[in-house]
Amino acid sequence: MKTIDLRSDTVTKPVAEMKQAMFAAQLGDDVYGEDPSVNMLEKKAALLLGKEDAIFCSSGTQSNLIALMAHCDRGDEYIVGQDAHTYKYEAGGAAVLGSIQPQPISFDVDGTLNLDTVKRVIKPDDNHFAKTKLLCLENTIGGKVLPLNYLNQAKDLVDEYHLSFHLDGARLFNAVISQGVDVKQITTAFDSISICLSKGLGAPIGSVLVASAEIIAKARRIRKMLGGGMRQAGMLAAAGIYALDNHLHRLDDDHDNAQLLAQGLSAIEGITLHGCAQTNMLFLSAQKQPQLIDFLAAKNIIISNGKVIRLVTHLDINSEDIVKVVTAVEEFYSDNH
Ligand SMILES: *Cc1c(COP(=O)(O)O)cnc(C)c1O
Repeated sequence: MKTIDLRSDTVTKPVAEMKQAMFAAQLGDDVYGEDPSVNMLEKKAALLLGKEDAIFCSSGTQSNLIALMAHCDRGDEYIVGQDAHTYKYEAGGAAVLGSIQPQPISFDVDGTLNLDTVKRVIKPDDNHFAKTKLLCLENTIGGKVLPLNYLNQAKDLVDEYHLSFHLDGARLFNAVISQGVDVKQITTAFDSISICLSKGLGAPIGSVLVASAEIIAKARRIRKMLGGGMRQAGMLAAAGIYALDNHLHRLDDDHDNAQLLAQGLSAIEGITLHGCAQTNMLFLSAQKQPQLIDFLAAKNIIISNGKVIRLVTHLDINSEDIVKVVTAVEEFYSDNH
């Protein structure tokens, strides 16, 4: 019986064709810059996002950290959302390993950082203060897509204050597909972008940091320092290439399935949805949550536990699975467990 795992889009497993591409990958030592598959992935990602260069990283956490360290020196500061991945879910790496002080501020409900608030926390040039160096956004953020005009306003602000501008674009392509734009319309505002290959794109491992040649040159040294210099990494890069070639447009299916899930669950008493499903994520509260989780687990449906339940659709979930999930939740509440 198939397991329907809605905890995250990180749980996707490589499809057979992707594994074949990995098996057939041309390899070399990437620390010498000699892995053709890694080089091809980096070139492809840079071209796609409209920047000069790119670097393959082992994870999104590493890619974001490398970016922050490439832009900021010890004692610099970056402005970031209170619930942003780089600040909250990366074990404080920027502070611990980069000596970069975070200045977190709360997100607005739409996932934007209020730009007046950003302005207010930018420190003047004064010995008392850390040097504000960078603004970091995340897109999608909690499944929400940042509006293009907001990105442009944020870009004006970083230009005015001479800040660097980094995007944690772990799910950048979910935003691209949702908005129906060219990816460059989003990435043009930013100095650096980190994308994850291992989420909805379905690769087993890997992220890519994309930026100017100057930033990527710094990034190569930092990646080595962090222990992220990999050797015949081309097998992993080949999975990434396959993902970029074949799995971008299918993200639409994940968004449709999230909508389907939202529609089905919204009709069930006992479930309260928090907002709509803009991309591949749905947030909700459930009555008798622990019992519901156990009930679904017995039917091979796995959902996350938390104050708010997050359901994520992905490559390994189809519309029949969604129907199964909705039916099971209906059953749970109608049987009054
Ligand atoms: C998953 C994720 C990351 C980090 O990715 P890992 O590969 O798990 O380290 C960064 N930012 C966001 C928004 C993510 O969802």
